[in-house]
Amino acid sequence: MSKFENLNLANCLVRALKEKGYETPTPIQADAIPPILKGQDLVGCAQTGTGKTAAFAIPTLHRLLTTGKRNATGGKKHKLIRALVLAPTRELAVQIGESFSAYSRFSKLRHAVVYGGVSQIPQVRKLRAGVDSLIATPGRLLDLIEQGHVDLSNIEVLIFDEADQMLDMGFIPDLRKIEKHCPDKRQTLMFSATMPPAIRKLAGEWLHKPANVQTARVSAPAANIHQSVYFVERRQKARLLELLLNSSATGRTLVFSRTKHGADKIVKFLHKGKIRAAAIHGNKSQSARQKALAQFKSPSPPVLVATDIAARGLDISDVSHVINYDLPETPETYVHRIGRTARAGASGQAVSFVTSDAVYTLRGIEKLTRRKIDVATDHPELTSDVAPAPTVAQGKSFRRGSKAPWKQRRQTTATSKSDNKNRRAGKPDQPSAAGAVSKGSAKRKRRRPAGRK
Ligand code: AMP
Repeated sequence: MSKFENLNLANCLVRALKEKGYETPTPIQADAIPPILKGQDLVGCAQTGTGKTAAFAIPTLHRLLTTGKRNATGGKKHKLIRALVLAPTRELAVQIGESFSAYSRFSKLRHAVVYGGVSQIPQVRKLRAGVDSLIATPGRLLDLIEQGHVDLSNIEVLIFDEADQMLDMGFIPDLRKIEKHCPDKRQTLMFSATMPPAIRKLAGEWLHKPANVQTARVSAPAANIHQSVYFVERRQKARLLELLLNSSATGRTLVFSRTKHGADKIVKFLHKGKIRAAAIHGNKSQSARQKALAQFKSPSPPVLVATDIAARGLDISDVSHVINYDLPETPETYVHRIGRTARAGASGQAVSFVTSDAVYTLRGIEKLTRRKIDVATDHPELTSDVAPAPTVAQGKSFRRGSKAPWKQRRQTTATSKSDNKNRRAGKPDQPSAAGAVSKGSAKRKRRRPAGRK
């Protein structure tokens, strides 16, 4: 593979890359940098961790360095914003800004990062001083445009990073408005981990004859991640988490919760058990989020409990364990989550807690990744109540309303501790989660309109 030195990049960029220790472009860089340098539009289907930031940042900085354009306003040479990067979250924007700083450190190029949730005053001050590129989250950028602090009429390169996440977060209307402020004649680059139809449509509207580059499918988790699942009842999850954190040699550990409230509750529970933990999610202030991240990157990191919104796109090295306290709603998100570990060739552990109502999701994950995930059995005191993993093959033959394989087993194996307790107390049996499945399907049957079988 050719080296960065052979790509005819500006010397100051090659020097900065050398200082960063980058010698050989990653596959996405090798594929994307040459067409971008030629001025082509590009769609890159790539996850974070593949080196995609440098794939767009390096050729963009090269263009800014080698095709000078400055205007003279008020007798002073004034910088124009010539490149705009749009990113879904503050953390990702900050991270991209750090990459721009590192790659442009031996040049006079300047950039600003703007995002919401903090005072706009320092951001406006930086913009006034003049920047060549701007990295922004959509909402704050629109505010600043409306107030007249940002002029996008000189944009030469427009970059959408993590486009599918911006779609998920409802930013498309904002992106449409922002795009209208940019000149039609420009280079447009779009990076996305997945390519849902809405993103393809936008790419069709905004990009002109783009080059397409793609890295490993999102359905392929790194081979060096050991994946396992625990079947556990909802009420036992917190204890299981505590036990795992105390009993196994976990290093930097990232725990995923489905909700913000859930993330806070997990942190509280861990604190009670004297386990250092911090939460990171959309309801936290910007400073709390940055603080949690900084602590997590430090040599003695607390357990970081995150929601998907806050965690995607973050480049944190040396994560030894990813724990899915709740399985995500889509199998693709599972692959993103566990991709936080085993980065840069290291190995990692991905552990998931699966309640009976999440077995469908697990099956979807196994189908997407074409691999059966090992069932962990090392904490039987917490997991014996729960069924074994239904296999993909079992899943195919299972239909809603019929007896689920795990339910069949529940009925034939020993009664659970809670059932026994209830019986002793003379209470009727609590409906089990498996029971809830059949109750739900009964409801669905009732709701079915007359005349439909
Ligand atoms: P990204 O996918 O942009 O989040 O990058 C993932 C990680 O790979 C970051 O820590 C980068 O610093 C690192 N990286 C990017 N390009 C290279 C390269 N050519 N050689 C070594 N490391 C790289």
